[in-house]
Amino acid sequence: MKMEIGSLRNEPGARVAFDFFLPRLALPSEEYRLLGPARVFGALTNTGDGFQLAGKLEAEVETACARCLRPVALAFAADFDEEYGAEELPAGDDTVDLAAVGEQYFLASLPMRILCRQDCRGLCPQCGKALNDGDCDCPRQETDPRLAALKALLEDE
Ligand SMILES: [Zn+2]
Ligand SMILES: [Zn+2]
Repeated sequence: MKMEIGSLRNEPGARVAFDFFLPRLALPSEEYRLLGPARVFGALTNTGDGFQLAGKLEAEVETACARCLRPVALAFAADFDEEYGAEELPAGDDTVDLAAVGEQYFLASLPMRILCRQDCRGLCPQCGKALNDGDCDCPRQETDPRLAALKALLEDE
Protein backbone atom coordinates (compact mmCIF):
# COMPACT_ATOMS: atom_id res chain seq x y z
CA MET A 1 0.00 0.00 0.00
CA LYS A 2 1.82 3.08 -1.22
CA MET A 3 0.84 6.63 -0.54
CA GLU A 4 1.61 9.37 -3.03
CA ILE A 5 3.46 12.34 -1.62
CA GLY A 6 2.68 14.32 -4.75
CA SER A 7 1.33 17.77 -3.97
CA LEU A 8 2.46 17.55 -0.32
CA ARG A 9 6.08 17.88 -1.33
CA ASN A 10 5.87 21.57 -2.17
CA GLU A 11 3.52 22.66 0.59
CA PRO A 12 5.09 22.99 4.02
CA GLY A 13 2.48 22.40 6.73
CA ALA A 14 0.21 20.41 4.43
CA ARG A 15 -1.21 17.22 5.80
CA VAL A 16 -2.95 14.28 4.19
CA ALA A 17 -4.89 11.73 6.22
CA PHE A 18 -5.01 8.06 5.25
CA ASP A 19 -7.06 5.08 6.33
CA PHE A 20 -6.45 1.76 4.65
CA PHE A 21 -7.13 -1.90 5.19
CA LEU A 22 -4.32 -4.31 4.47
CA PRO A 23 -5.58 -7.73 3.43
CA ARG A 24 -2.22 -9.29 4.33
CA LEU A 25 0.48 -8.62 6.85
CA ALA A 26 3.85 -10.26 7.38
CA LEU A 27 3.53 -12.49 10.44
CA PRO A 28 6.39 -13.66 12.66
CA SER A 29 5.75 -17.35 12.03
CA GLU A 30 3.29 -19.86 10.64
CA GLU A 31 1.72 -20.13 14.08
CA TYR A 32 0.10 -16.74 13.55
CA ARG A 33 -3.01 -16.05 11.57
CA LEU A 34 -4.51 -12.69 10.68
CA LEU A 35 -8.21 -12.52 11.56
CA GLY A 36 -9.56 -10.11 8.99
CA PRO A 37 -7.74 -7.19 7.36
CA ALA A 38 -5.39 -4.99 9.35
CA ARG A 39 -6.20 -1.29 9.47
CA VAL A 40 -3.56 1.37 9.08
CA PHE A 41 -4.58 4.99 9.58
CA GLY A 42 -3.03 8.32 10.36
CA ALA A 43 -1.57 11.24 8.48
CA LEU A 44 1.42 12.27 6.43
CA THR A 45 2.58 15.82 7.10
CA ASN A 46 5.07 18.05 5.34
CA THR A 47 7.04 19.43 8.30
CA GLY A 48 8.97 21.98 6.27
CA ASP A 49 12.26 20.09 6.36
CA GLY A 50 10.87 16.66 5.70
CA PHE A 51 7.85 14.50 6.33
CA GLN A 52 6.21 12.99 9.35
CA LEU A 53 4.27 9.76 9.01
CA ALA A 54 2.23 9.13 12.14
CA GLY A 55 -0.65 6.81 12.80
CA LYS A 56 -1.76 3.50 14.10
CA LEU A 57 -1.86 -0.10 12.96
CA GLU A 58 -4.66 -2.30 14.25
CA ALA A 59 -4.95 -5.99 13.62
CA GLU A 60 -6.54 -9.01 15.16
CA VAL A 61 -4.28 -12.02 15.16
CA GLU A 62 -4.67 -15.55 16.35
CA THR A 63 -1.90 -17.74 17.63
CA ALA A 64 -1.34 -20.62 20.03
CA CYS A 65 -1.07 -19.92 23.75
CA ALA A 66 2.60 -20.29 24.67
CA ARG A 67 1.69 -22.60 27.57
CA CYS A 68 -1.40 -24.63 26.69
CA LEU A 69 -1.29 -24.27 22.87
CA ARG A 70 -4.94 -23.35 22.69
CA PRO A 71 -5.78 -20.78 19.98
CA VAL A 72 -5.91 -17.29 21.39
CA ALA A 73 -7.07 -14.15 19.60
CA LEU A 74 -5.22 -10.94 20.27
CA ALA A 75 -6.41 -7.44 19.39
CA PHE A 76 -3.20 -5.71 18.51
CA ALA A 77 -2.57 -1.98 18.11
CA ALA A 78 0.69 -0.13 17.61
CA ASP A 79 1.27 3.58 17.18
CA PHE A 80 3.91 4.61 14.72
CA ASP A 81 5.67 7.89 14.19
CA GLU A 82 8.36 8.18 11.56
CA GLU A 83 10.25 11.23 10.40
CA TYR A 84 11.85 11.43 7.00
CA GLY A 85 14.29 14.06 5.90
CA ALA A 86 13.37 15.52 2.52
CA GLU A 87 16.46 13.85 1.06
CA GLU A 88 15.51 10.44 2.49
CA LEU A 89 12.59 10.10 0.15
CA PRO A 90 14.03 9.78 -3.30
CA ALA A 91 12.52 12.29 -5.67
CA GLY A 92 12.02 9.61 -8.30
CA ASP A 93 9.82 7.49 -6.04
CA ASP A 94 7.25 9.92 -4.75
CA THR A 95 5.56 7.50 -2.41
CA VAL A 96 5.69 6.27 1.17
CA ASP A 97 5.07 2.58 1.68
CA LEU A 98 2.46 2.53 4.45
CA ALA A 99 2.21 -1.23 4.52
CA ALA A 100 5.95 -1.60 5.05
CA VAL A 101 6.02 0.92 7.89
CA GLY A 102 2.97 -0.63 9.54
CA GLU A 103 4.44 -4.12 9.24
CA GLN A 104 7.73 -3.03 10.71
CA TYR A 105 5.99 -1.64 13.83
CA PHE A 106 3.71 -4.65 14.03
CA LEU A 107 6.58 -7.14 14.03
CA ALA A 108 8.58 -5.05 16.49
CA SER A 109 5.77 -4.67 19.02
CA LEU A 110 4.04 -8.04 18.88
CA PRO A 111 4.66 -9.81 22.22
CA MET A 112 6.95 -12.83 21.94
CA ARG A 113 4.87 -14.93 24.30
CA ILE A 114 1.13 -14.74 24.07
CA LEU A 115 -0.88 -16.46 26.79
CA CYS A 116 -4.59 -17.31 26.70
CA ARG A 117 -4.75 -15.80 30.18
CA GLN A 118 -2.16 -14.46 32.57
CA ASP A 119 -2.36 -17.44 34.90
CA CYS A 120 -2.65 -20.13 32.23
CA ARG A 121 -1.62 -23.41 33.89
CA GLY A 122 -0.38 -24.99 30.67
CA LEU A 123 -0.30 -28.71 29.95
CA CYS A 124 0.60 -31.53 32.30
CA PRO A 125 4.09 -32.60 31.19
CA GLN A 126 3.15 -36.23 31.79
CA CYS A 127 -0.31 -36.76 30.32
CA GLY A 128 -0.68 -33.59 28.26
CA LYS A 129 -3.99 -32.59 29.82
CA ALA A 130 -4.82 -28.86 29.73
CA LEU A 131 -4.67 -27.99 33.42
CA ASN A 132 -6.96 -24.97 32.96
CA ASP A 133 -9.74 -27.56 32.63
CA GLY A 134 -8.88 -29.12 35.98
CA ASP A 135 -6.22 -31.26 37.61
CA CYS A 136 -5.17 -34.60 36.20
CA ASP A 137 -4.39 -37.71 38.21
CA CYS A 138 -0.66 -37.69 37.58
CA PRO A 139 1.57 -37.55 40.66
CA ARG A 140 2.82 -34.03 41.30
CA GLN A 141 6.08 -33.24 39.55
CA GLU A 142 9.26 -33.53 41.54
CA THR A 143 10.73 -30.09 41.86
CA ASP A 144 13.95 -31.19 43.56
CA PRO A 145 16.60 -31.17 40.81
CA ARG A 146 18.56 -33.96 42.50
CA LEU A 147 15.54 -36.23 42.42
CA ALA A 148 14.82 -35.28 38.83
CA ALA A 149 18.40 -36.17 37.84
CA LEU A 150 18.14 -39.50 39.65
CA LYS A 151 14.86 -40.23 37.96
CA ALA A 152 16.37 -39.44 34.54
CA LEU A 153 19.25 -41.83 35.31
CA LEU A 154 16.91 -44.62 36.28
CA GLU A 155 14.80 -44.10 33.16
CA ASP A 156 17.90 -44.44 31.01
CA GLU A 157 18.52 -47.97 32.27
ZN1 LIG B 1 -3.08 -21.12 27.75
ZN1 LIG C 1 -1.22 -35.39 33.96
